[in-house]
Amino acid sequence: MSLKINELCVNCDVCEPVCPNKAISMGPDIYIIEASLCTECVGHFDEPQCVAVCPVECIDPDPEHPETPQQLLIKLAGLQAKGATR
Ligand code: SF4
Ligand code: SF4
Repeated sequence: MSLKINELCVNCDVCEPVCPNKAISMGPDIYIIEASLCTECVGHFDEPQCVAVCPVECIDPDPEHPETPQQLLIKLAGLQAKGATR
């Protein structure tokens, strides 16, 4: 399941550089997560790195993008094949 940044984001910039998939970028008003690139950090880390560093706890699961851990690993392999990860 991709994660999603909610309106409590204070644009502190700390999550963008820690994402192993370069899924986080500045949106029109607050930071956003590109669902096709977010793997919940599966295969890289034990926990979502953006959630770990966010000072205001404004990053939630996105129910519009449900994925199993196995699907996330397949998604990661696809991203790595394209050279889309750090
Ligand atoms: Fe990036 Fe991991 Fe956060 Fe997804 S959970 S946006 S892959 S840091
Ligand atoms: Fe927004 Fe949290 Fe990212 Fe800071 S760490 S930019 S508050 S989502």
